Amino acid sequence: MLPGTPRPERLDLSVDVLTGVGPTVKKKLAKLGLRTIGDALAYRPHRYEPAAPERRITELFGEDEAVIAGEVRSTRLQRARRLKLVKARVADATGEITAVWFNQAWLADRLVPGMQVRLRGSLRGREFAVRSYDLDGVASTADFAPVYPATEEVSVKKLREVVAGALGYARDVVDPLPAALTAAAALPDRADAVVALHRPRREADGERARRRLAFDELLVLQLGLARRREGREEERATPLGAPGELVERYRTVLPFRLTPDQERAIGEIDADLAGEVPMERLLQGDVGSGKTVVALYALLRAVETGHRGALMAPTETLAEQHFLTIEPICLELGVVCALLTRSVKHDVAQAALVVGTHALIQEGVDLGDLAVAVVDEQHRFGVEQRAAIKAGRRPHTLHMTATPIPRTLALTVYGDLSVTEIAKPPANRKPIVTSWISEERASEAYRRLTRLLKEGRQAYVVCPLIEQSETSRARAAEQEAERLQRGELRGFRVGCLHGRLRPDARRELMARFNAGDLDVLVATTVIEVGVDVANATVMIVQEADRFGLAQLHQLRGRVGRGAEQSYCLLVSRRKEELTESAQARLDALVATTDGFELAEVDLELRGEGQLMGTRQSGLTDFRFARLRADRDLLEQAREVAEQLVDYQGPLNDEVDALFAEHDLAA
Ligand code: ADP
Ligand code: MG
Repeated sequence: MLPGTPRPERLDLSVDVLTGVGPTVKKKLAKLGLRTIGDALAYRPHRYEPAAPERRITELFGEDEAVIAGEVRSTRLQRARRLKLVKARVADATGEITAVWFNQAWLADRLVPGMQVRLRGSLRGREFAVRSYDLDGVASTADFAPVYPATEEVSVKKLREVVAGALGYARDVVDPLPAALTAAAALPDRADAVVALHRPRREADGERARRRLAFDELLVLQLGLARRREGREEERATPLGAPGELVERYRTVLPFRLTPDQERAIGEIDADLAGEVPMERLLQGDVGSGKTVVALYALLRAVETGHRGALMAPTETLAEQHFLTIEPICLELGVVCALLTRSVKHDVAQAALVVGTHALIQEGVDLGDLAVAVVDEQHRFGVEQRAAIKAGRRPHTLHMTATPIPRTLALTVYGDLSVTEIAKPPANRKPIVTSWISEERASEAYRRLTRLLKEGRQAYVVCPLIEQSETSRARAAEQEAERLQRGELRGFRVGCLHGRLRPDARRELMARFNAGDLDVLVATTVIEVGVDVANATVMIVQEADRFGLAQLHQLRGRVGRGAEQSYCLLVSRRKEELTESAQARLDALVATTDGFELAEVDLELRGEGQLMGTRQSGLTDFRFARLRADRDLLEQAREVAEQLVDYQGPLNDEVDALFAEHDLAA
């Protein structure tokens, strides 16, 4: 092989081919995910040291960071109380100074007289306190030296050493993109980007390198999504024509007029249903924005054309809740509606409309007959129902989510879906008034709550999230309900809702709360989704600082569902005990009820990978991409992916790997 020809297979070599990496270090690196040379090359610095001027020793002044270079004259080890100090006299052409290292006693033996060193640090009195140093070459003291995420076991210094070694293989990195494309997109070559990531000459070089690598990441994702879209073009659904008499009656049966956003959503759905290409649409809207009404419309479109509609929910509770909402309307319309869960199994054969859990519907319904499927709150990359659809036509599918996702994130996670947003809730809603107080004033919250109870309203009290298992959470909730019944809520009718109730007990409890036979539901987070009682207008969340932003927003959505003014009272631990991020979450909730705005805040606070459960999808575990900053790159990657669906090259393996876990059909 010619010298200089890349040998990408060398990137798969284990890190222990590098000097300084033995079995012990190898194990520690593995914990950081660094197993191969390629892994080390892709290890992203989380920042770079700022530039510091190189100074002659006699010209050092002030306490600003500076770099000096010189020769070791002498070394000694000194103890000062518990500290061990290594002190070395270092000289350059202009003078001498004592350099000090803290707690690195072993250095005393390495710093031998005559050795050339380069030190980065600052003056402390008459001595030079060393922050980083190089005994050979320049890696740690350089301007923009990379700072890697380190652990107690593996120091930044060690990581620099490992990456420096791996950089010897940088020329084995091949560019997966056609040269014409990188040129057109004004992106650096991939190998150059890898080098610049670790050895930027300017701050901007590091960022440019990151963006190139981020582009590759986003492209892999978009290629996968584009293929999925493409794959669907072959599939056929039953075209449902124009809206008919049943949905006309449905509109008149509803006790309200549809909002403009609902009308727009319905218009988009009708357009999809008219065609043979299966609908793949995401209906996104905040809790209480009126999605279910739209979803039922889509289901009735299936029914009126002599087919079936199915509404699939992730949990039994949600399925039951949907059934309770939908059944009375169906009854009025003369549509037979069935519930299908683990504990309730209506006769599905007779039903035109089936509500149930995902799994059961997939097993229990003849999908050939299913013209419209509504999938509620199911993360798309969990179980793809596509696997269940073997031959014949597939249903038009409406994915419904109350988790507001910022536009950029929707483009990544739902990049192959059309998106409909219900942004404005029905106009008769008053925004929920949210306040935040800390626990020493919790009694005020209960006073406000009981005042509303006396006016005939109902309430939720959400228990803290401390307990790990569902069973211990259930027990804690029951104890809390008893405590409140004897204390703050004496004289009111208190029920307790948790995940360990048997389905019939839960149904009965909900029915009593619905009917106003209970004043307060003390609950675990199981009320997060699905519970819909318009007269419940106040909620207390205990130890609200323990909850995530998205979860608090979902919880809060249980109130404010009718025309009455609603309140959400967040009780946190003492403010001094809270992390900055917890305070920011609670502040944000007080400031706004807009789910999309909160999603943006969440994105800011937590980083994209962990947003609202998207982490489990794996599809947004980006190493280099930052969705907020890289919106343009994302759009670009999407366009490029469209042109590259037939692309055959090194990114293919990555696409396959990324999507294999998520697509049963793949
Ligand atoms: P989502 O599914 O988005 O959480 P729902 O469809 O369950 O919201 O609607 C929440 C509440 O608002 C329900 O009680 C519903 O009857 C009511 N609602 C829905 N659409 C309207 C509307 N256009 N006008 C008034 N109330 C509405
Ligand atoms: Mg709903």
